[in-house]
Amino acid sequence: MPDLTVPDLLELDRRHVWHPYGPMPGRQEPLVVESASGVRLRMADGSGELVDGMSSWWSAIHGYNHPVLNEAAREQLGRMSHVMFGGLTHEPAVRLAKLLVDMSPDGLEHVFLADSGSVSVEVAVKMCLQYWRSLGRPGKQRLLTWRGGYHGDTWQPMSVCDPEGGMHELWSGVLQRQVFADPPPTEYEESYADQLRALVRRHADELAAVIVEPVVQGAGGMRFHSPAYLRVLREACDEHGVLLAFDEIATGFGRTGALFAAEHAAVTPDVMCVGKALTGGYLTMAATLCTSRVADGISRGEVPVLAHGPTFMGNPLAASVACASIELLLGQDWLAEVKRIEAGLREGLAPASELPGVKDVRVLGAIGVVQLDHAVDMGAATAAAVREGVWLRPFRDLVYTMPPYVTGDADVARIARAVCAAAQEG
Ligand code: PLP
Repeated sequence: MPDLTVPDLLELDRRHVWHPYGPMPGRQEPLVVESASGVRLRMADGSGELVDGMSSWWSAIHGYNHPVLNEAAREQLGRMSHVMFGGLTHEPAVRLAKLLVDMSPDGLEHVFLADSGSVSVEVAVKMCLQYWRSLGRPGKQRLLTWRGGYHGDTWQPMSVCDPEGGMHELWSGVLQRQVFADPPPTEYEESYADQLRALVRRHADELAAVIVEPVVQGAGGMRFHSPAYLRVLREACDEHGVLLAFDEIATGFGRTGALFAAEHAAVTPDVMCVGKALTGGYLTMAATLCTSRVADGISRGEVPVLAHGPTFMGNPLAASVACASIELLLGQDWLAEVKRIEAGLREGLAPASELPGVKDVRVLGAIGVVQLDHAVDMGAATAAAVREGVWLRPFRDLVYTMPPYVTGDADVARIARAVCAAAQEG
């Protein structure tokens, strides 16, 4: 096929290519990216560059085209890009598992290398259900979660997303019925903590696990809540014999100002999912970690193995970039960078609270959110951000940013201006 012009490419894209949550044929014209470097996306239509306020859905924490990550990928490509993980192992996967165990909350000892965030949640759920099955408690197969959460687009994760008004409402009638608590309030409220305790107690006989996004509910509404609720859940789960799983896919690797959001509450979950920033946004890989209690429980069962093994499990290319990304993160004062971005977003987004139609402005770590009192006009809001030279992807009633940690102060200010403009025009 000869080189495609931008109009040709857009027409073929519209006719043949599904986009996330998109119709077929496509109706919206996506922007065509030619390349990406640092925090900038270069547009194929010659219109120039956009500062990336999204980190490619919160994954590209080091920015794009990073020499260290490029070198790790190149070096690993020369050795082997993939080899099956059944019966074989290799250094990148083993090193990655060790890095993850060392950096995660104490007690998480075992690592399943999955190939996407959704799959890592599937694996987490399977681990929890199988744990109880192995212990002779097959009735414990439901999950408790918060409304307003988001855990992925595959079947089990969909069942713990928001059942009403969420992205998977279409399927609410056929998904496994889980136990839902109201979304956690921003501040600690004893009455809400009591509700959580009561739900865990009431459903303990049928609950395999509580699964939640700690501290930030991401794609379900970009809500922040008090870490104290995580301690409440830990205590209630311990008291009533229920496992606790944290989905750190969005929050992991420093985004909230702690390496993992669980650290804000000094809580170790029994199972933890990570993804997105794991490979610095380079390649698709996620991981499910668990404690020895969970692994030992599964090993004692009638079927003493975790029956899960995707073709691309432990992919060496992704694992070696993930190792490089983690080492890059830990080798610098990442917290200072996240705090710097937090300060820049606080300052830059403050004027948004004066804008008509703005309900709330909130910032935590390298996350800045402007919530409107109406559904955002995605086209108008995105166009307003692009006019400011920034890439954003507003949704529902939210205009938000999660920039790469390498975003300089001037670009943070520019992103904040773009969020304000998008909130005003969307
Ligand atoms: N869990 C959380 C908290 C997420 O934010 C996401 C993605 O946005 C997922 C799970 C699903 O991850 P993936 O899109 O890699 O399947």
